[in-house]
Amino acid sequence: MSFASLGLSEELVRAVTERGYTEPTPIQAQAIPAVLSGGDLLAGAQTGTGKTAGFVLPILQRLSDKSVKGPSEGRAPIRALILTPTRELAAQVEESVREYGKHLKINSMVMFGGVNINPQITRLRSRVDVLVATPGRLLDHVQQKTLDLSHIEILVLDEADRMLDMGFIRDIKRVLALLPRNRQNLLFSATFSDEIKTLADGLLNKPAMIEVARRNATAETISQKIYPVDRDKKRELLSHLIKERNWFQVLVFTRTKHGANRLAEQLSKDGISSLAIHGNKSQSARTRALSEFKSGALQVLVATDIAARGIDISELPHVVNYELPHVSEDYVHRIGRTGRAGNEGEASSLVCVDELKLLADIERLIKREIPEEVVPGFEPDRNAKPEPILRNQGRGQQQRAPRGGQGAGRTGAPRTPGATAKPAGAAKPKPAAPRSGNGGGATAARNPSSHRPGGRHH
Ligand code: AMP
Repeated sequence: MSFASLGLSEELVRAVTERGYTEPTPIQAQAIPAVLSGGDLLAGAQTGTGKTAGFVLPILQRLSDKSVKGPSEGRAPIRALILTPTRELAAQVEESVREYGKHLKINSMVMFGGVNINPQITRLRSRVDVLVATPGRLLDHVQQKTLDLSHIEILVLDEADRMLDMGFIRDIKRVLALLPRNRQNLLFSATFSDEIKTLADGLLNKPAMIEVARRNATAETISQKIYPVDRDKKRELLSHLIKERNWFQVLVFTRTKHGANRLAEQLSKDGISSLAIHGNKSQSARTRALSEFKSGALQVLVATDIAARGIDISELPHVVNYELPHVSEDYVHRIGRTGRAGNEGEASSLVCVDELKLLADIERLIKREIPEEVVPGFEPDRNAKPEPILRNQGRGQQQRAPRGGQGAGRTGAPRTPGATAKPAGAAKPKPAAPRSGNGGGATAARNPSSHRPGGRHH
């Protein structure tokens, strides 16, 4: 199938050809005709599927098809609004708009917080057809009356699930209230929680529905591995692996911002060039870290899930879960950073006894067991007791409840080694069935200090 056969104009086909794309990805093949038809769209797709071009290309076509209102210079109405959860994603989407629209007369602008608002105000005085923005800064402009959204023809909510996770629902609703009623709405989300369904129900009018397979849950090009290790040996093991196996361009995930900072500092002390990237860093620090990492000057980038989400770093050879995520879906997002476009990728997880339940949840979600490797010199203590991991409240590193205390509920349930029962319906994703003691479930089976009990091999 070709881009031209999807109904795209010669200018757009030329731009994607110059970009090196030979044929549309599955999401593009479905989304492009749907958006060109002018109807609303609900799309289940995550970063790495080519979703951005899936909405940017047909939007550009629709905007250039219809007669452009207003002068080519000076104030003209903004016609398309793309909302994204993070600044990085906003910047990347806007870059795509410019790249794919380079043979068209379409002007775009990116707008996000954490940077001086004045240059944005100046930019808004000249023509903007497509605005890519994060919700907070967008509303700042609305409040300052420097932005008029009353002529928006097309609205995109990109990574809507993540916007809700980040608490943007009220901001989104405020933005929606500022838009004209008659418009085309596109909602992209990697997951479909009840909250997303409610948002979609209120926003979309008889939407076309598209869902593409989570390519990274099944990607054969990603090799996944678990390294069992004691919790206080993780940093040492990570340095060891990076040095001994000559890993470069390693994206390391931690659960907390503080944890990311500390780890980056410790790795640097170990002689491994590292920087942390997360929401508390200034935009310029994040941009610098990302560009050094992309260029290969920086060996390790340590990131939290939210900061990393939407960052497009292709051909990334190594993703490391220094700590497993609380939300299993985030594991899938994390490892989706590697093994793109047919390149080999390696996703490694350092797992201590506290995280066995998280691991079981992940394996249930991806419907496979991840192979283990115990690194000599880092054999975990067989008698270590799991401690609850408290949900991060925004500060502090991985926090633990006092001994004997109860964590936030999801983690740390004591396990009984040897109980190997695996629920028959183990494939069902979240929410995880509550477990007590040896009440069954894959978690009970894994002892971090040994290879899997025989009963777990199928
Ligand atoms: P996205 O899911 O939009 O973040 O895109 C993921 C990556 O796929 C980006 O690096 C795009 O440049 C790339 N990409 C998008 N569409 C295609 C295509 N049709 N062929 C090859 N690569 C693509």
